[in-house]
Amino acid sequence: MSKTPDIVIIGSGIGGATVAAGLAATGAEILILEAGERIADHPVNRDQRAIFQRGHFRPKETWYEADGTGFNPGNYYNVGGNSKFFGAVLSRYRREDFEEIQHREGVSPAWPFPYEELEPWYGRAEQMYRVRGALGEDPTEPVHSTSYDYPPVPEEPSIADIRSRLKRKGLHPFSLPLGVDIDRWLAKARTPWDAHPNSDDGKMDAETAALSLALAYDNVRLQTGSPVIKLEAEAGGRISGVTYRQNGEVRTLRPKLVILSAGAVQSAVLLLRSANGNFPRGLANASDQVGRNFMNHNSSAVIGVSPKYRNTSIYQKTFAFNDFYLSDGNGGPPLGNVQLLGRISGKVLKGSMPRVPEWLLDRITGHAIDFYAMSEDIPNPESRVMVDGERIVLKWHRTNWDAHLSLVAKLKGILKSIGFPIVLSRPFDKRTPSHQCGTVRIGSDPASAPLDTFCRAYDHPNLFVVDASFLPTSAAVNPALTVASQALRVADHIAAKELKA
Ligand SMILES: Cc1cc2nc3c(=O)[nH]c(=O)nc-3n(C[C@H](O)[C@H](O)[C@H](O)COP(=O)(O)OP(=O)(O)OC[C@H]3O[C@@H](n4cnc5c(N)ncnc54)[C@H](O)[C@@H]3O)c2cc1C
Repeated sequence: MSKTPDIVIIGSGIGGATVAAGLAATGAEILILEAGERIADHPVNRDQRAIFQRGHFRPKETWYEADGTGFNPGNYYNVGGNSKFFGAVLSRYRREDFEEIQHREGVSPAWPFPYEELEPWYGRAEQMYRVRGALGEDPTEPVHSTSYDYPPVPEEPSIADIRSRLKRKGLHPFSLPLGVDIDRWLAKARTPWDAHPNSDDGKMDAETAALSLALAYDNVRLQTGSPVIKLEAEAGGRISGVTYRQNGEVRTLRPKLVILSAGAVQSAVLLLRSANGNFPRGLANASDQVGRNFMNHNSSAVIGVSPKYRNTSIYQKTFAFNDFYLSDGNGGPPLGNVQLLGRISGKVLKGSMPRVPEWLLDRITGHAIDFYAMSEDIPNPESRVMVDGERIVLKWHRTNWDAHLSLVAKLKGILKSIGFPIVLSRPFDKRTPSHQCGTVRIGSDPASAPLDTFCRAYDHPNLFVVDASFLPTSAAVNPALTVASQALRVADHIAAKELKA
């Protein structure tokens, strides 16, 4: 590869790795600059005390609230980004999520294109991430022109029991679409995969499913330990330099095209930090929307406990239900999605309940079923990522919380009705920005969106932003597959319009 690549991709998460996989066959010289390193194959990867009690993998990073209070966010910097830790739920947004939706607390706006526009790339992303699932079980399922290549992850008996109980109540549990080869995963250690790091153990993450395809081409290269610290922009808008740090040295590259995929918080931060005399509000920010509309799902863990129920499962996370997704069940506004969490053990729970002895938590979790309730967070310009010198300031203004509380209340009622007399819930807060999105959104009007519908910055012809920041709405669906699908769509667009031009 020559000294100056044609394309520099910043970040190797779902957005960066998938766009690289989509562009690799073009022959363009592509360099991926990644801040972190690869996650090594090590026993600590499955040590739940290390992960959940000692925060072994948590970056030693502090973000700040608007009032100056610091907090440690669970945002991961390594090859493959946050997907190395993800629950591998690879779900499509519902068709309705691309349209305007009236919620209890405001309106979730329509996307600049309908579901049908992205549908072919959803199918390609499902193939790339080897998604397992079953069609036809979820009444809210959008049209699929391709079916899943692999059957669902097998359900464990104590989970199949809960699925049957819910069905008897008239609900519609469906197999979660998952990117995990369960036999390979369990061969390493008998643990769940959600929130556990993957080296190459069967989870289909950005590194194992997409980056590995890209790096099979000689024209694609990955450089780790190389955080990008600044983008240079000429007066006319062209991005003329990508400045990064490696081994204490600062270097600048001058590629033809830059694809920013540092994640919804860090991409916004880099654009804001790259402000210059011509772009005083930051790059791509003529609309003043960069960093705004930060969304992170309203989500809670909801745990049902019954002395009569014995949970013998290892991984648990195999089904979901959307019975309150499009409406509250009585014709009112939507509440959200309910899916199983990865199996919670005493070792996991002790991380958030340090005073309770682990043996007691083990006893309780042995009789518990663990759900994740997730509701849409509506874009709000006052929900913001900002920079203050070296500090990252996150002013998350949650919306639609009332609908989320109703979803949690409904779920509690359902769990009680199927034999769980004790139901506990706990919301996830800003320290868990797992589903961060929306900070550099797409739109058809440059006055209200930094990016066009192919994720190109309106203000900079050779800059694309391809990660969860482009999402104009959060829906109530796990985001990764939608990010990957749009990344493949953008790659095809770049291949056809930029590299052939
Ligand atoms: C515990 C957990 C469970 C989750 N479960 C699911 C799930 O089941 N399904 C789902 O759809 N989603 C899930 N998510 C969310 C999902 O992982 C993210 O939506 C997705 O990974 C976002 O991809 P991204 O490309 O936007 O950014 P990221 O994954 O954040 O990737 C950004 C990359 O850029 C790198 N980077 C950052 N700054 C710089 C810089 N300045 N220079 C160079 N490199 C930089 C980072 O190191 C990282 O590799 C989960 C997340 C977590 C944490």
